[in-house]
Amino acid sequence: MLFESQDDEIQKIDQDSITYISNICPFCNKTGRQIYITGFTTIGEADEGAGIVITKCTFCENTAIRVMSIDLATNDFGLNEYNEKYREKRIIPSVTEQEFPEIIITEYPKFSKIYRQSEIAESNNLDLICGMGYRRALEFLITDFLKKTKPELKEELEKPNMPFHTKIDKLPNEIRSLPKVSSWIGNDETHVIKRNKNLNIQDMKAFILALVKYIEMKEQLRRSTEIMNRKK
Ligand SMILES: [Zn+2]
Repeated sequence: MLFESQDDEIQKIDQDSITYISNICPFCNKTGRQIYITGFTTIGEADEGAGIVITKCTFCENTAIRVMSIDLATNDFGLNEYNEKYREKRIIPSVTEQEFPEIIITEYPKFSKIYRQSEIAESNNLDLICGMGYRRALEFLITDFLKKTKPELKEELEKPNMPFHTKIDKLPNEIRSLPKVSSWIGNDETHVIKRNKNLNIQDMKAFILALVKYIEMKEQLRRSTEIMNRKK
């Protein structure tokens, strides 16, 4: 016999006792319904959190493991000790890390660093913090891009009180909507009431990545032009 048939100390975590799981699939990154497969408490010293819940994605069918912690906020510490509520603490695998092109990492180090830290916050379900973080990363990306492309604005850009929307207005017209809409989403993450209900962090990230692609193209153009001019 490979296993003992049962362990009385392990309790089932049923759907009703789960107060929160993230609805972003760590495999396909789509936001949507996750199917509950099973859940159980963990009591070992090395076990992270208080339980494990397994879900299947309705889009890609991949199985995610969710480490649960006891939800202290909604828990009713009544007489029944098995009446506990659980919320997701961490998802396995974690949110995938965005790899930026080398030129972005070297030329825009503050942006790359803050973006990465926001991803860590996101993978730990710190959704309020990651929204503000992505917005801050975006501001560094734009400021540094403007400093390079419009050196005459450098002094003005370095003033700490220059509003974000003023910086956006200095960008080429064709790309202004990307940071503008992203910053709305970022702002909403910091507000209690979300104004743009149909937009979320994933949209914001997609807009930021489009801007990164544009800036990468401009940087490579600048580099190749420099090389060409040196040959003359
Ligand atoms: Zn999926």
